[in-house]
Amino acid sequence: MPFCQKTLTILYLENIILQLVDEKRLILYLRVIMLPKPLYELASKLQYFPGVGVRSSQKLALDILELPPEKYGELIESLSSVRQQVTFCKECGFFADQALASGLCDICENTSRKQHQLCLVEKPTDVLTLEKSQIFKGRYHVLTNLISPLDNIFAEHTTLGDLLERRVQDLLASGLPELELILFFKAGFSGDATTAYIKDILVQKQLVERVNITKLAQGLPMYYNPDTLDQATMVRALEDRRPA
Ligand SMILES: [Zn+2]
Repeated sequence: MPFCQKTLTILYLENIILQLVDEKRLILYLRVIMLPKPLYELASKLQYFPGVGVRSSQKLALDILELPPEKYGELIESLSSVRQQVTFCKECGFFADQALASGLCDICENTSRKQHQLCLVEKPTDVLTLEKSQIFKGRYHVLTNLISPLDNIFAEHTTLGDLLERRVQDLLASGLPELELILFFKAGFSGDATTAYIKDILVQKQLVERVNITKLAQGLPMYYNPDTLDQATMVRALEDRRPA
C-alpha cells in the first residue's frame, strides 16, 4: 500500500474510533466488561441527569455503592419520596412542600417580599437562578411554557391565564396602585410571542396604565438563557431593566 494511502487509511480508522468515543459506545463497551451489571445499570441511569457523562456516572455509582448503610438508606428513602412530598406553589408555581397546609412556597410565605413586582419565568428552576443574585426582592410567576405556535404551544398550555385573569387582578384589587411584570425568560421567538400576548391582554383589560412590563437590560446576549447567566451579569441586567 502506498504511504499516502496507508496514512489515509490510518486516519480513517482513527476517525471511526474517535466517533465511537464521541458517541460513548467504545467507553460504554469497555465499562460493560469491567463493571458488574447492576453497577453498569445504575451508572447508565445516572446519565439521565444533564452534565453527567459516562465517567462521572460511573464514579457516582461507585460512591453510592460505598455509602455507609444508614446513609444509603436515607438516600433511597429521599429518592422514593421526593416526588410525593414536593408540589408546586398554588400562588406562583415554584416548588413547595406538600406537607405545608398553606400550599405556598417559601417566597410566597415571606410577607416582606414586594407585592408590586412579579418576575415571570418559564420554569421553576429559573427562580433559583434569579434568587442567586440576591437582589430581587419581589415575587414570581412560573409560566411552565412560553408560547410557541410553531411547536403547538399556546396560551392555554401556560399559566398566563392564571396570571392575567386572577393574580394581576387580585393584586390590583388589593390596593396596589401599580404592578411591574419583569420578564425573565430566554429571548427569541417564543419569548417575543409570550410578551406580545401579555401586552395584548393588558390592552384588552385596559390595564396598561397600571401594569408596567420590563425586561432585562441590553448587554445580555441576544438569545440568552437564564440557566447560563452568571451572577454579575444577572445583577447588572436586573438593575438596568427597561420597558419591554
Ligand atoms: Zn409561591
